[in-house]
Formats: sequence, C-alpha cells, structure tokens
Amino acid sequence: MREKRIFIKTFGCQMNEYDSERMLALVGEEYVPCEVPEEADLILVNTCSVRRKAEEKVYSFVGRFKSLKAKRPEVVIGVTGCVAQQEGERIVKRLPHVDLVLGPQNIYRLPEALEKIRRGRGPVVLTELKKDFKPPLIPATYDGARPVKAQVTIMQGCDNFCSYCVVPYVRGREVSRPPEDILREIECLVQQGVREVTLLGQNVNSYGQKEKGYPTFAELLRMVAQIKGLWRIRFTTSHPKDLSEDLMRTIAEEEKVCEHLHLPVQSGSSRVLARMNRGYTREEYLARVARLRELVPGIALTTDLIVGFPGETESDFQETLTLLEEVRFDEIFSFKYSDRPLARARKFEDKVPEEVKAARLWKVHEVQARITQEIRESYIGRKAEVLVEGPSETRPEVLTGRTRTNHVVNFTAPKELELKGALVYVLIKEAGKHSLRGEFLEILKGPGGGPDED
Ligand code: SF4
Repeated sequence: MREKRIFIKTFGCQMNEYDSERMLALVGEEYVPCEVPEEADLILVNTCSVRRKAEEKVYSFVGRFKSLKAKRPEVVIGVTGCVAQQEGERIVKRLPHVDLVLGPQNIYRLPEALEKIRRGRGPVVLTELKKDFKPPLIPATYDGARPVKAQVTIMQGCDNFCSYCVVPYVRGREVSRPPEDILREIECLVQQGVREVTLLGQNVNSYGQKEKGYPTFAELLRMVAQIKGLWRIRFTTSHPKDLSEDLMRTIAEEEKVCEHLHLPVQSGSSRVLARMNRGYTREEYLARVARLRELVPGIALTTDLIVGFPGETESDFQETLTLLEEVRFDEIFSFKYSDRPLARARKFEDKVPEEVKAARLWKVHEVQARITQEIRESYIGRKAEVLVEGPSETRPEVLTGRTRTNHVVNFTAPKELELKGALVYVLIKEAGKHSLRGEFLEILKGPGGGPDED
C-alpha cells in the first residue's frame, strides 16, 4: 500500500504538464498525489523559465516551504524543470531547505535522486544536458481517473535559437523519441480510456529529421491515426518555417487529425522576425496560411505573439495589427517582450519602453477580442462535434468539451445520459467570452465503446 504523499506544482507549458505526469508515474508505487503541500512527504515544483521574473517567482514560491521543512525535516522538497536547469546549484545555495534540483532531461532520475537523499547524500543537483538524450518510455498512470484526453511528448529540446528564447539552453538540443515508443505509449493511453491525444514538442514539424530511419512528422501522424480506439489527434507546437505541404495534406486527409493548428507568428513585421531569428518572413507566413486554408477549409488557427521586441517601431507594430486582421486567428497568446537569461536578445540595445509595450499589448488584446468574438458568434446555429470531458469545473450541472477546432463548449444534456468520454453533436446557441454554449443533440460514439471502436 502506498503511504506517502506527493504534491506537484506545475508552472508553464504542456511539456511541463507532461513531465509532471511522468514524475508522478515514476514514484507512483510509493507516493499517492495530494492537493496541498502541507500534507505531502514529497513536494516538487516543476518550473518554467519562459516568462519574465520566472526565477524570482520560483524562489519566492519555494521559499514558502522553509517553515514546513523546519517543522517536518523529513519532507523532501525539489525544484525541477527549466528554472532548475538554468539556476542549478544556486537554488540550494539560496534555499538550503531544497533537497533536489532536476533539469528537464534529468526528471527521469527522480527515483535515483530520492534514494540518495534517503541515504543522507543530499542535496542532489542533476542538470547535465546530453546531446544524445532519449526520454524513456514511461506511460502515465491516472489512478483510476480515466481521462478522456492526454498529452504525449514526441520530442524534446530545440535547435532553433530564436533570439528571445531560453528553451534550447535549458531543454537542450532537439531529440525525437523512437516512433515505436510513441505508438506504444498512445496505445496504452487508449486502453485506459483516452480518446484524444496531443503530440507535444517545441517544434513537432521537424520530428525525426535528425534521426536515421525515423518517419517525418506527417508520416508519424498517419501511423498514430491507425491506432484503434483513438478518435482525435492534435499536436503542438508547429514552427511556421517547417510547415510542409505533406503535413498540410495529412491534416486535410486524416480524419482523426483535428482542424486546428497552433502556428506561432510572434510578429507581423519581417524586419522584427529576422531579428528574432524566426526563419520566415511575414509574406511566407501568410502564404502558408493561405495554402493551409485552401487544403483544410475552416481550419482554426491560433498563435503566439510578442509585442515590444527590441527595436520594434510603431510601423512594425502596425504590421502586427494588420496581420491579425488578415489571418483572423481564433485565439492568440500575446506577451510583452522581456529579457530572458541566456537568450541573445537580452543584449540588444534598442529596448522598447515598458509603457509602450503595455499600450501595444492592450491594442493587440482589443483587436483580437473582437475577432475572436466574431469567430465564436459564427458558430451560433451550427451543429458541432464535441468530445465530452465531463462536468464543467465551475458549473457541475453543465457538461464541457471541445470542438474539433478546439473551442470550449459548455452544454446541457439529459441527466440520465452518461456522456463523459462520448463524441456528441451539440447545437451551439450562444457565444460567451471564453466559450460556446449549446444543447446536446445526439451521441456519435461511445462511451462504453471499447478501444476497438473507431
Ligand atoms: S522554436 Fe524558437 S521559440 Fe520555439 S522553443 Fe525553439 S527557440 Fe524557443
């Protein structure tokens, strides 16, 4: 019987969520998850260093556990992820109550680190980055929770060195997982009831390119689509420079691949894009979007955007606004530029004043809020295919799920129907600020259909 408890706090992206799931699985025979750190025997803070002041936030968050450690010295406290990689030994120097520090490539060594600590050989700091690193196959265990959707990392690290980004320095160079490991992991998830997977990587479009005999990303998608019982496939993130015709055709042709693409543009100005080292121009980005929409009519697009990159002029910024109007993304994730340790752009001298960045971000939000609302309203009166994830967290009397185009739908349905895990049609009746609202129409598949049902 598992007697110990683990609390994990995850910051940042889906890759970090995936890593947290792996760490839970790695210690799953000994530890059971708990909701509050005060009840835990092992506290892990899985960190992200992409946003501004990330390190300071981590130091302050983990600093709070000092009194807990003083009261219960046997509690093991660990910092993992990108800030752990970036800060290394500095963390245990500044926070002596921390027992372990694991960079993203080293989270798989958690059991070994815990064993050392048990033998009094802590604190343990593991931040080695290997070029030939291959993440081992560790299927998640969901403790009977039976999630409807799951994430699967298909590659780690990045070779692109965008000038604002810290990822290649903290997650290492790009490595792809063997296709057979990916397929095995997804099959195992499907057996646990998962119907939708999101394939994760910093740049999934370049999957397999560095390894001999590996499939391309488009080929991998086709292989995943063969898995019986899997209904939907998503993936993120796609680098625009590597978005191939073959991949676009695969999205168009493979029924299980959802019509949604997250394609980070970062800026609408070719001049700024060059300084960001993004590897494409505004025109090339727009040409790819046009081709994609030709092949996959109705595809939803989302993006990431940075405003106030060093040297961004008012006219560069206007180009970003016109790009938003031209592409009409379903949603964007926009941020003010901030210097990141190790990234090249921190040395660029022509920094944009904070108040200008704030005003530009506000303008971007204003423009995009209108576009997003217009797109949401276009769903009213339409029948949408929704994969039901379960009751809404905020309104348990309402069910929630997503359309193929990744819009959240909250809807009502007859109480006697067990719809979690089912693929249903919903009639969209309203477009709210954050979601669509509708009424259940009919069941398309499951639940109760076994993994063989396709
Ligand atoms: S593609 Fe650029 S932004 Fe994305 S992880 Fe790699 S370096 Fe960072």
